Order: sequence, then C-alpha cells, then structure tokens
Amino acid sequence: MGYADFHRRSIEERDAFWAEQARLVDWQAPPRQVCDNSSPPFSKWFAGGTLNLCHNAVDRHVAAGRGDQRALIYVSTETDQEKIYTFSELQAEVQRMAAVLKSLGVGKGDRVLIYMPMIPEAAFAMLACVRIGAIHSVVFGGFASVSLASRIEDATPKVIVSADAGSRAGKVMAYKPLLDEAIRLSKHKPGSVLLVDRGLAPMERTGGRDHDYAPLREQHLEAQVPCEWVDAAHPSYILYTSGTTGRPKGVQRDTGGYAVALASSMKDIFLGKAGETYFSTSDIGWVVGHSYIVYGPLIAGMATIMYEGLPIRPDAGIWWSLVEKYQVTSMFSAPTAVRVLKKQDPAFLKKYDLSSLRALFLAGEPLDEPTAQWIADGLGRPIIDNYWQTETGWPILSICNGVEPAPSKFGSPGKAVYGYSVKLFDENTGEELTGAGKKGVVAIEGPLPPGCMQTVWGDDERFVNTYWKSIPNRLVYSTFDWGIRDEDGYFFILGRTDDVINVAGHRLGTREIEESISSHPNVAEVAVVGVADSLKGQVAMAFAVAKDASGLTDEAAKLRLEGEVMKLVEQQLGAVARPARVRFVTALPKTRSGKLLRRAIQAVCEGRDAGDLTTIEDPSALQQIRDMVQ
Ligand code: ATP
Ligand code: MG
Repeated sequence: MGYADFHRRSIEERDAFWAEQARLVDWQAPPRQVCDNSSPPFSKWFAGGTLNLCHNAVDRHVAAGRGDQRALIYVSTETDQEKIYTFSELQAEVQRMAAVLKSLGVGKGDRVLIYMPMIPEAAFAMLACVRIGAIHSVVFGGFASVSLASRIEDATPKVIVSADAGSRAGKVMAYKPLLDEAIRLSKHKPGSVLLVDRGLAPMERTGGRDHDYAPLREQHLEAQVPCEWVDAAHPSYILYTSGTTGRPKGVQRDTGGYAVALASSMKDIFLGKAGETYFSTSDIGWVVGHSYIVYGPLIAGMATIMYEGLPIRPDAGIWWSLVEKYQVTSMFSAPTAVRVLKKQDPAFLKKYDLSSLRALFLAGEPLDEPTAQWIADGLGRPIIDNYWQTETGWPILSICNGVEPAPSKFGSPGKAVYGYSVKLFDENTGEELTGAGKKGVVAIEGPLPPGCMQTVWGDDERFVNTYWKSIPNRLVYSTFDWGIRDEDGYFFILGRTDDVINVAGHRLGTREIEESISSHPNVAEVAVVGVADSLKGQVAMAFAVAKDASGLTDEAAKLRLEGEVMKLVEQQLGAVARPARVRFVTALPKTRSGKLLRRAIQAVCEGRDAGDLTTIEDPSALQQIRDMVQ
C-alpha cells in the first residue's frame, strides 16, 4: 500500500487501522474498543485492554528467548565507563529497583519523581515504575532547585529517585544540594528519597527520609516482581514541556496507546528491527529520551545506547565512533547538537565507518537547510527531519520510509504521519486553509492518535482551554506552530505562532528570516525576534553567532558582516524581511533542551521583564543581549 492510502486509511478507517497496529504489542486482556471518543476532546484508546509497558519493553523479549541479546548499552565519556546489559540483566535490575520502590511504599498510581543524570539506574527506575503501575515524572538533571520544586509540587511524588551528581565536560555537578533545596521550597514533601551514590560528590542524608540505593538493592538481588497489568488508559508518566513559551505543562500519557504508537513508529518511521542498535543522543529528561532512548527501542527489541557526555568530548568524533563500534542502524539527535558539531572539524564526520546507519533522524527545532546539507554531506547518510511535541509523544510530521520510501525535502519535516489529521487554519477566522502555499496554524483534528497526551496532569480545564480553544469556532488541537504545505503534502514549519512578525502589515515567520541569515557562510546560528516599532508596528532584530569570529575584532568588521547579511536577506526574501539590525554575540540564550528562547530575547529588546527563566541554559547569553540593546 502506498503512503497516501496508508494515511487515508488511518483516518477514515481509524479503528480497523489501529486494531492492526495494536497487534505489535502484548496484551494481557485484549481491548474491547479501539477508540472511545464519546467525550471530545478527551479520547480513550484501546479501552478494556490491559497490558504493561515494562513487560512489552523487557520481559516479553526474555520470554521469547532473546534474554542474552543486548538491551541497554551505557556509555559515559564523563566517567569513562561502558557497560552492557542484556534483556535478562535488565529484567533483573528493573525487578530489584521495583522491589526497593515497593519497600518504600510505592504502589499503583503513586507518582515517583526521577531527577537523575544519564546513568542506567535512571532507565531502571522508569521501567520499575511502569512495571508496578506507578507513574513516573522524570525531571531533566540539568534543572536547578526552582524548576525542580515546581515540578515536585505539581506531581506530588511519594518517592524521589536521585543521585549524588551528574557530570558535564568533566565537571561534577552535585545534585543532592539542589534536590534538598527544591524539597525545602516545595509545599509537597516526598515520603522518601532514594539515592544512587556514584562516588562523585559528597551527600548529606536526612535521616528517615533519605535512603541509599546500593544496600537496598543488595537486599533484593533475587527479587521477582511481577508486572502489574494496568488498564490501557492508566497513566504511564507525567512529563513537563520544555518551557520555551512559558510555564511548563504537565503532559499526562496513557499506557496502551503509547505502547502501540511507539511500536508502530519504530517500524514505519525509525526503521528499527529487533536485534539492531538504536542511538538517541537526547536525555531521559526530554520526551525524545522517554520515547526513543527508553521505551521505543526496547519495545522493538532493539539495543539502545544511553550516552552521558558531550558530542565533542574527547573529540567531535565520539558519536560516530559509537555508531561504528555498536553497528548503530538508526540514530536520533537534534539540530542544536548538529550546530555544535558544525563549529568543529568536518573531518570527524568521515573518520568512522557509518555504513550500518540507515538514517539520522533530527527533531526538536527547525532544521535549517544549510545545517541539514552540512550534516548530510559530511555523513553521507540520509537525514530525516521529524516534527512533534512533548504533548504528542511521537512524530506528527515525518517521512514514513517504513511504509513507502519517499524523498526528503530540505527544510521540511515531511508529511502528516499516519493517525494524524493535520490541518492549517487561519488563526483569526478559524477558516481551514486548503491547497498549497497558504500559511496557517498547524492543528490536529481530534481524536488525537494513540500515544498523545491524555490531559494536563491534574488540570483537565487547562488541557481543553490551552490546546483546544485557541482557533476560533473549532474544536481542534493547536500545535501553536505556524506552517505551510506544498503541493505534494509536505509541511514547512515557519515558527511558533507567537514568533510571527508583522512588519508594516507583512506577516513573516522568524524561521524564514533565520534560514536566510544562516545561509551566509560565516553564520553558525541566529535568532530573529519581532520588536515593537512605532513606525512599522514591528521590526525584525537578529542576533547571530559567527562561525569564525576571529575577524570580528572591531565594530567596523561587525558592521561589514551585518551589511552582507542584510543584503543576503534582501535578495532572498525582499526588503520587508530585512532585519533592522544583525548583532553578533558569542552565544544565544536557549532552554536546557537547546531551544532558542526568542520570547526572552524579544522581551529584553522591548525593555520588558524576561519572564520565567527557570529553564534557561546560560543566563549570561541573555545578559550579553541586554547589555547590547540598552
Ligand atoms: P513549551 O511548550 O513549554 O513552550 P516547547 O514547545 O519547546 O516548550 P517541546 O514539546 O519540547 O516543548 O517542543 C515542541 C516544539 O518544538 C514544537 O511545537 C515546535 O515548535 C518545535 N519543533 C520540534 N520539532 C521540530 C521540527 N522538526 N521542526 C520545527 N520545529 C520543531
Ligand atoms: Mg510547546
């Protein structure tokens, strides 16, 4: 079946389509109904079915006689460790962790917050939670006390699993003091804290509350903890969005729909097969880490690489050396990581044998054409952009080569993925924009496919009001991204809806201007924001990082480069799109997940308060811009 028919069937014969996909996972009791959409926008997938995510990710592979195959490959260039766990070993470790969590009183439906560096115990803890029906909430280890405290308060965990420290570029980052401070700040207090001691940083323990994992694990070496069969709609986890646009939302995910969506995506999008190796360079603190470091690859019976470290340490060839060593077949990373590599010697991309690699998948942010071209040329392997959100849990737009091979188009993440009825709407009138070349808000018609968010944790009203009420006269899910579709059905994401700039009545996406600027050979990355202007309504302001800044020693040199860039934009997009200024900085403010914080740059440029900055990576990058514009 061609992809167009496959997609059409997923929408028009929804239940039959997903009933087939549901066979990719093991059910204890089969579902009675495929999709219960009786109270939109809430939908329930695979009602009546019972299953367990950990069983599907681990136990069933052991039961199928694959216990000796690799499951988890842990590589840390921070602590110089490499450790491989087979499916049987993983099963044993998960049961030990599950037994310890149970001994601390964790049961079905209880929340467990996981604040961990990229170590195997983090994955054990996630799998142990879903094994016993507990709901995990992983908080990225790079967050400090305030961000952590707000998530503790919202998720109200019974237990927090943490560690003494993480490590970044060889520098130890102590976690425990941040955790203690977060618990102090939070109105909710966990009953227990379970601590993995890596021997990196000293830890103060609070008696009665804090427990070391190692001795407890010793007590449960032979633990047999059966999988708790849960309803398909039972929440598997809560994960907060990246906070690029404001206060993070607690995305609540189900169990059955998620398992099915991941299993099918591994086959049809990520081209993964049991026995092969998958490498996602993300962090378990992000949705990509949940879906494509832990659950997706393991459900597919693949080995998954969990990597702690930077992409450029010991050198910029480290990732590719792992691809060669472990014969990685699918790899997943982010444009922000590629831009880091782009500042390094491209020879590293050619140093290793990458013939095992079917494709490098990239997601998380717009993939600009020069960056895509650079990495495609360097690796000589296919690059596949895919677009999705924490909320959806798996791709909305991609190329589904597992269904039917199709070409990628640079600058586009591809077509609507099966299961998603993706449409464009005029944000002011709610009119549906059909046909090619029309810009609108990217939205999804309900019911959302399996795997997507069920609701905002503890706040159904916020779920409905935030996502389903933003487009006039419609009950559709808004992505809050702005896009355009071409005549072949490929979408192009033009930026977030609040990143649209209105210059003298012309509506421009920041993305379009950024693309144009980054096509200059000496621009590594750039952020464009709209700034209020009394004459034109708004003007575009650009902040760029030069690839080679050695020539930018004085103002005259900067102005020369600025002039070149402006001319380029004018040639490519026209005079209206030409930014008012292009300023050169050494770094751009980003979230911890590597996304540009345009709203903060915009606020600073307009002399406003920068708002919630708890998820910012490097505050000095924003300060640089503040100093510049004042
Ligand atoms: P918050 O919702 O809290 O403001 P966030 O939107 O950054 O944070 P995520 O769910 O991590 O949180 O990111 C999803 C967003 O990332 C998308 O809505 C889109 O703006 C952007 N994005 C992801 N993948 C792509 C892609 N391939 N191309 C363009 N943009 C992408
Ligand atoms: Mg978002």
